[in-house]
Amino acid sequence: MAQIQKPLPAITETTKPYWEAARRHELLLLKCVDCGHYRHPLAPGQSFMCPNCTSVKQPQWAKASGRGKIATWTVVHKVFHPAFADEAPYVVAIVQLEEGPRMIANVRGIKPEDIRADMEVEVFFEDLTEEITLPQFRPAGK
Ligand SMILES: [Zn+2]
Repeated sequence: MAQIQKPLPAITETTKPYWEAARRHELLLLKCVDCGHYRHPLAPGQSFMCPNCTSVKQPQWAKASGRGKIATWTVVHKVFHPAFADEAPYVVAIVQLEEGPRMIANVRGIKPEDIRADMEVEVFFEDLTEEITLPQFRPAGK
């Protein structure tokens, strides 16, 4: 049986640098050129206006440390898409990045029941296709 393809993120002109960096195994965030405020994500069509200082200058992509802490999470037991059948139960977490923004990702390399709030995690990269590499997280130092 052919492997079932996971639904993948759509790459837009705005998000292209982010996905290109992920393929190089780098995590990028948008950084305000006036005040240095980081943010993530930037949805298509969303204003470039900085929520911190209201600068309307186009923010720059900046490399993130990849370090963060688990802010909250859920454990997915029910398979909603057949491509995830072999992964359940799996963890979907909101990671508080060192730079400030929060991002949603899977946390791997740990049993779901061992996850704790404020646990230190680090990014790693899951190469899914030629185009898409997903930033994911695992316990720091593993
Ligand atoms: Zn700013």
